[in-house]
Amino acid sequence: MPARNMTPRTKASTRHLVSINDLTNSEIECVFDVAQAYLNELGDRQLKYRIGRGKRVAPDSILATLFFEPSTRTRLSFESAMLRLGGSIITSADPATSSAAKGESLADSVRVVGNYADLLVIRHPRDGAARLAAEYASVPVINGGDGSHEHPTQTLCDLFTLKQKHKSIKNLKVAISGDLKGSRTIHSFVYALARFGATIEPLPAPGMELPPHVDRRLREEFSSKIVARALEQGAASIDALYVTADEPHQQSLFSGPEIDYERVVIEKKIDAVYVTRFQKERWSEKDVSYPKIDAAFLKNAKYSQASVMHPLPRVGELDAAIDSDIRAIYFQQAAYGVPVRMALISLLLGLERGKSLRRFESGFQNNRLPIYDQPRSMGVQCVNPNCIVHEPSESQYVRNKFHVVRAAHQCLLRCAYCETDLDSFVTANNRSKWYSHGRNLLSDAGEPSKEMLAFATEEDACKEGFHLRKNTRPGTARKATAAS
Ligand SMILES: [Zn+2]
Repeated sequence: MPARNMTPRTKASTRHLVSINDLTNSEIECVFDVAQAYLNELGDRQLKYRIGRGKRVAPDSILATLFFEPSTRTRLSFESAMLRLGGSIITSADPATSSAAKGESLADSVRVVGNYADLLVIRHPRDGAARLAAEYASVPVINGGDGSHEHPTQTLCDLFTLKQKHKSIKNLKVAISGDLKGSRTIHSFVYALARFGATIEPLPAPGMELPPHVDRRLREEFSSKIVARALEQGAASIDALYVTADEPHQQSLFSGPEIDYERVVIEKKIDAVYVTRFQKERWSEKDVSYPKIDAAFLKNAKYSQASVMHPLPRVGELDAAIDSDIRAIYFQQAAYGVPVRMALISLLLGLERGKSLRRFESGFQNNRLPIYDQPRSMGVQCVNPNCIVHEPSESQYVRNKFHVVRAAHQCLLRCAYCETDLDSFVTANNRSKWYSHGRNLLSDAGEPSKEMLAFATEEDACKEGFHLRKNTRPGTARKATAAS
């Protein structure tokens, strides 16, 4: 069993970008200011959205791209950004020949490569892999996409594109189409849209709706309120809208049944349609009905002014015939990946005088959430089968580590790596060997006690030799259910 607190802490000053929520809104604006300055100074004279020249901002710095999953554009745009800054790159881009193929853990890989480079960009098929990498790396880690979890730099590019086109993100109405379940890009994007006060209209393919934990966070942590289709007569195409209050305290505006629905229904013109790729590698059914965005779709009056965006690559869900449509901005969106990543790299390396990404504990979330932290062999584990904690090569380096989210009506355990929520469990005391289903020990304020253990079910607690605490009322055995 690994010793308690064996996880090495990175230097206090080391910043990472794993989730879009690791950055505050003002920090995101700071990235955009720097990106805009690069674009103004180094932009192509014909194509204003494209970086056409370089500058020796980071001549002594090295960026390493560690890609454990095939990728072209994310990796190339990071490498292009670093080369435009006058820096150097080293890359491991072929999963089949990497050290991981020889069985090396990610925790070891980042500690080794952290000695060769000043910044690591990581792409990995497992949810939460980038957070694990950030725990072990001695230099900043940027998440280049981890499983279905997040892709925060794509979101920075998407927001920057929206700002270029529409000046402000606040009050924009953005439709998101396609696979909203498995698309990490979408998960980062909807959090950011909600945080900047946009309205989100999901247009999912059947069975590919936003995961429950993403939906829950939008509503409970990012001030979004769902407006259901039933509220609008004849609005067959609208399943739900996420309308975001300007400030968290304005949530109360949404408390009545008559709230703002009318405004939303009347202002149903869409400012942007964000299309996502059908990720056939994540879906076994071949003949799934997937929405296609083409000229016929865009003929609807509500899309008459809508920018069409796509993170690319596309595989048929976005008709090439609309490439010449003035609303199509996806190639500009791809081009903005370079100035945005140049800005992020130079800020993370501390190369922008007078500007920096402040050291942060929890980014957008002002209050750091308490941590439940136990060795991997003890108690409840993350219920997401694709989480990095279930990767055999990482078993010595991960822990059963969760953020304790104390919502108004319940207490959740949120995996510290992949952020999947666990909303049903029993709590136990490891010293006295009792468990309780009548009282949730995690509900108490502050950090959970070191003796506190959580089990997925009562049966699991009994199997480990725990007994029901006396004087608690009998309850029904709880079953572990994932929130996603
Ligand atoms: Zn997890």
